[in-house]
Amino acid sequence: RRGLDESAADSVEPVDLRVGIPHSARMYDYWLGGKTNFPPDRALGEAFEEAIPSIKVMARENRRFLGRAVRHLAGEAGIRQFLDIGTGIPTEGNTHEVAQAVAADSRVVYVDNDPIVLAHARALMDSTGSGRTAYIHADLLESEAILTDPVLTRTLDLSRPVGLTLVAVLMLVADEDDPWGRARILMDALAPGSYVAITHPGRDFDPIAMAAVVEAAGKGQMTLVPRTRDEVARFFGDWELLEPGVVPVMAWRPDGEPPADPTAAYYWSGVARKR
Ligand code: SAH
Repeated sequence: RRGLDESAADSVEPVDLRVGIPHSARMYDYWLGGKTNFPPDRALGEAFEEAIPSIKVMARENRRFLGRAVRHLAGEAGIRQFLDIGTGIPTEGNTHEVAQAVAADSRVVYVDNDPIVLAHARALMDSTGSGRTAYIHADLLESEAILTDPVLTRTLDLSRPVGLTLVAVLMLVADEDDPWGRARILMDALAPGSYVAITHPGRDFDPIAMAAVVEAAGKGQMTLVPRTRDEVARFFGDWELLEPGVVPVMAWRPDGEPPADPTAAYYWSGVARKR
């Protein structure tokens, strides 16, 4: 593990980006129209697109949910600290930008396990005003170590509510690695009044297309586990789901007009509050 905060942001050591194999962060960056991706990432991204032609739109819809959820948490819900796990390559609407646009003193700890995200972490450290951001290079599976990392404890006060985001990351954790248990450890460590925002590709929108995507991922040595609505709902445990519950990502509090077909993006989504 490696942590970076403002004091250490210059000391990034060289990292092995393993550009010969596809990585989820870079494939997602490719779908979003970014430039931080390599031929194997684009090849797998295109294989997914063959099975699901609208996959780029879906990736953008997932990203837009992140914006809506963080805006709600920093706004109406009054959350001032965020733990964003599975950060992704910095792009438009990073969590701290969205939160700090609402509340300038918002603090964000980012966590990702991909060396390319570490290599770009400086771009996540451009807090405005009284806000702060920090980055921890770690795996979601090391929930306990993330929670006690000095970079986290220097940045976030865990005795106060936190907005945890697990957006488009849990599908990269196999059932054997118990993503529910890992999420639970994180959630249990947070104070009452905390929130969790989750999106997850659904197995039940278009099972045939999704099976083709899973097969392509397997060939590219990537773990990808789309899950059913019930399996996704289990992540929230006994936390109180905000309206409208666990719904297709486009149906979660859309900006403006509700979409004509909210099932057009194959992600489940929800936000819940710890009682
Ligand atoms: N949350 C962002 C990015 C999603 S892409 C968004 O929705 O816009 C998924 C990210 O999760 C990638 O950056 C990938 O590197 C990261 N990731 C995958 N498995 C992980 C794990 N086990 N621990 C931490 N990060 C992980």
